[in-house]
Amino acid sequence: MSSEETSAPWSSADFGPYDEASDDKKKIGLKIWVPCRICERAFGRLRLTRRYCDTCKQGACEGEHLNFAAKTGKGRCTSCGDKILENI
Ligand SMILES: [Zn+2]
Ligand SMILES: [Zn+2]
Repeated sequence: MSSEETSAPWSSADFGPYDEASDDKKKIGLKIWVPCRICERAFGRLRLTRRYCDTCKQGACEGEHLNFAAKTGKGRCTSCGDKILENI
């Protein structure tokens, strides 16, 4: 085991399940990487991210499962995007 400083994501990641009391927005605010919850749920795969959805506060990977609103700059995961479309 080395005590070298490293910025590798897995060195400061929280692999635990989504926690309402300490949501992914809070974790990411503390510079902790979290799994993309959509990758986890939909594909059972682990993909770390430091981006979160501003609607559900869950981590989502940028590019595939998270988009930024042009107007507000806020992130929205594809799951929340779908829900909003369904409600129209
Ligand atoms: Zn993802
Ligand atoms: Zn969301």
